[in-house]
Amino acid sequence: MTGKQSIHDRLDEILSDQSYLDASHDLARPTPECRIFTNRNLKLSRVRAVGFDLDYTLAQYRQEALDALVFSMTVEHLVKAKGYSESILDLNYDQQFGVRGLVIDIQFGHILKMDKFRYVSLAFHGLQKLPSQDRRDLYNQQRVTFSSERFRVVDTLFELVETYLFAALIQRLEDQGETLDYGTLFTDIRQTVDLKHRDHSMKRKIMESPQSYIERDPLLIPALYRFFRSGKRLFVVTNSEADYSQFVLDHLFRNADAYFSGWRECFELVCAESRKPSFFGQGKPWEVLEDSSCLVVRGGSLAQLEAKLGIPGDEILYVGDHIYGDILRSKRSSSWRTCMVVPELKSQIRIEAEIRPLIRELMRCEAIRKELAMDFHLHGNQVKLLYQFKDAESDDLANGDLARIDDKIAEINRKLEKNNRELSRVLFQSHQLRSKISSAFNPYWGRLFQTGGQLSAFAEQIRDYACIYTSSVSNFNFYSSQAYLQSNVTPMPHELDTHSAELDFDESLDAD
Ligand SMILES: [Mg+2]
Repeated sequence: MTGKQSIHDRLDEILSDQSYLDASHDLARPTPECRIFTNRNLKLSRVRAVGFDLDYTLAQYRQEALDALVFSMTVEHLVKAKGYSESILDLNYDQQFGVRGLVIDIQFGHILKMDKFRYVSLAFHGLQKLPSQDRRDLYNQQRVTFSSERFRVVDTLFELVETYLFAALIQRLEDQGETLDYGTLFTDIRQTVDLKHRDHSMKRKIMESPQSYIERDPLLIPALYRFFRSGKRLFVVTNSEADYSQFVLDHLFRNADAYFSGWRECFELVCAESRKPSFFGQGKPWEVLEDSSCLVVRGGSLAQLEAKLGIPGDEILYVGDHIYGDILRSKRSSSWRTCMVVPELKSQIRIEAEIRPLIRELMRCEAIRKELAMDFHLHGNQVKLLYQFKDAESDDLANGDLARIDDKIAEINRKLEKNNRELSRVLFQSHQLRSKISSAFNPYWGRLFQTGGQLSAFAEQIRDYACIYTSSVSNFNFYSSQAYLQSNVTPMPHELDTHSAELDFDESLDAD
């Protein structure tokens, strides 16, 4: 695409034998980290309207810069307004600690990673890993329940900084001998971060220097134009305030002249302050802020939006980054199709490719370990049988026979000793490889989408609620807006071929 097309250019293109459906001839092949992944089949040709969340969906923030800003503002406020020790002022932000899908146990001050069955596979207190036995004692008898006030799920990318702050403050203050009320600490952090959002101090900083905090994605506008050109109707539903939303949209569309005169041409409706997830339930009637080529409103509800569009829910695709507010609630409350934006996919896929040799080496070690364990079991049984035979038949056996049995037992024991040494070596190597692989993803939590040999709770939620998922909205640029996105059938364990099932492995940090 080189510029905005006239209707006659578009007509020529559609009539051309070279072009079919959505000018798919100009599609570049996406790299793995730019692919769209499908959980539930989706025909984009059937989608007549596409809605977008704004923060961390259309607008990708420079997370490290934004988190560092929130971190320093929050720490400063905690000292000045809430009486926390000045010793926390020199804390530095560690971007690696907080990841989505973690759960904060407010009662004990722990941070947890769960598998898809909601069992806790890893736990930290402060910045220290909780000993396995303590973790098991506390959590093995129960599943974590999201509805409980005691547990808070880290759902959004905005919450990563709070998660680290909670752990870092526990670490620093308990190291200094303070006894903490974890509930109060959590509330103080939550209220302060919330205040910095509400009093606009954070947004003011972003508005002063948007290029410092918002990523520039040159493929975003072409991706939106691809939808627009194919006749899909586009809208925005965001919880951000109207003035901030308009500022961010202005920023995103500042160099979009080749495609749109501005965001008001691209989107026919912008719902600001939408109060998702309640927007997907009752919501509240919207207040019209601007009635131009784009209707800008405050509030609203799913029913009001669907009525305005006049399009049935299953022909609407909603793209968002918040598993609960954007994806889960819209999926449960409506028939909207869902696309989850998961920016973390880029690094996860890149690391996966980089460490593939380590993964292969680990699989080889695991195959050897399983064979050695099988040998150990078989030879152990043979020795047991020989002893039983010798004891039972000793009266009837000649000395020469008994000596032959003893020789055989000694020979097997030598094999077992050798086998044991080899097993120890392989186990050590496996453990080292698991640690290396996990640390390559994240030194605290390992892989985002796996834990304890299972899918993580975060991965399972994406699989359950997002029809499709991808690292960025701009990835739609690589797909025809008429594409049929098809999922692969996930095999049951019994359907996996035996060989790959035997090589199944778990590189959890917590291998014990
Ligand atoms: Mg968002």
